[in-house]
Amino acid sequence: MNNKVLIIYTGGTIGMVQGKDGSLRPFALEGVLEAVPQLQSCGYGIDSCQLDEIIDSSNMTPRVWVDIANIIEREYEKYDGFVVLHGTDTMAYTASALSFMLEGLSKPVVLTGSQLPLGMLRSDGRENIIAALEIAASPVRIPEVCIFFENRLYRGNRSTKVSAENFDAFKSYNYPSLAKVGIEITYKHHLIMKAQEGANLKVHRNFNTHIAVLKLFPGIGRELVEAIMKTEGLRGVIIETYGSGNALTEEWFFEALREAVGRNVIILDVTQCKAGSVKLRQYAASCDMEQIGVLSGHDLTIEAAVTKMMHLLGTYDDTDQVKRLLETSLRGEMEWN
Ligand code: ASP
Repeated sequence: MNNKVLIIYTGGTIGMVQGKDGSLRPFALEGVLEAVPQLQSCGYGIDSCQLDEIIDSSNMTPRVWVDIANIIEREYEKYDGFVVLHGTDTMAYTASALSFMLEGLSKPVVLTGSQLPLGMLRSDGRENIIAALEIAASPVRIPEVCIFFENRLYRGNRSTKVSAENFDAFKSYNYPSLAKVGIEITYKHHLIMKAQEGANLKVHRNFNTHIAVLKLFPGIGRELVEAIMKTEGLRGVIIETYGSGNALTEEWFFEALREAVGRNVIILDVTQCKAGSVKLRQYAASCDMEQIGVLSGHDLTIEAAVTKMMHLLGTYDDTDQVKRLLETSLRGEMEWN
């Protein structure tokens, strides 16, 4: 029996057509599949479906993540793998979110898209869809949410969009790619997660979006920091710090953080650097952060940090449990010991 894959179409450049004013708009699924006739002769069982509303991924919301996860849960037993066609702009957020939502996953969920619409002669979409399908149908059965783009398969919650114009638009700086597509597909088995024996798929659907991301810059003002920290209903803040997790050492800054922590706001330190990890206490400029109760985001991408924090705050009421899980690797999203 041939392996079966379900394509879930959500939108993005891959399926866009040019409107009269020249701007790109999402298009229906039939048009996407017609543009890749090779799919009919690839030897896998392929079915497809689309979200009720096809979107530019700039309009992505947790509600849409739930729609995608619901489809995967509903069709889980019927298929060997899933390919999610998605806009590139927020693909790394969706891949990260799905990784936290789909606990006990034992089948591949591969997100892909393209930089040029499929209807264009030089589109990168055809190769991306075909390889993503081959990976989703492969007996290797990667039990992870991944992103396939321009010859590389990445762990979804380690990926980040790095280019608005190159075909190799994604990178995973802190974890090597899981597979490389050349004449053959070379899987790096030792880097791929092992499926949990006997685990069943469990879908987590709740996100708490009452969080903020505060990116530090030289000259950042007290009013801005205080305004963010005092936002009503705030449950968590991700501070994008410098280097190995360093921040300014001004007293007003610490006071704003200390006051927020006192109100049970969780503060997570991630670095603005693309590669490497937060190491609190390496410099004096991060010692006080730890003392106040700021947590280390280790080598999390910002996409993984945002989605993990929203997922944990939406799933658990106990602040201490959320804190503990934030500093624990749940789906291979960060280094951990
Ligand atoms: N704006 C598009 C989207 O993310 C860009 C793309 O697909 O490459 O939906």
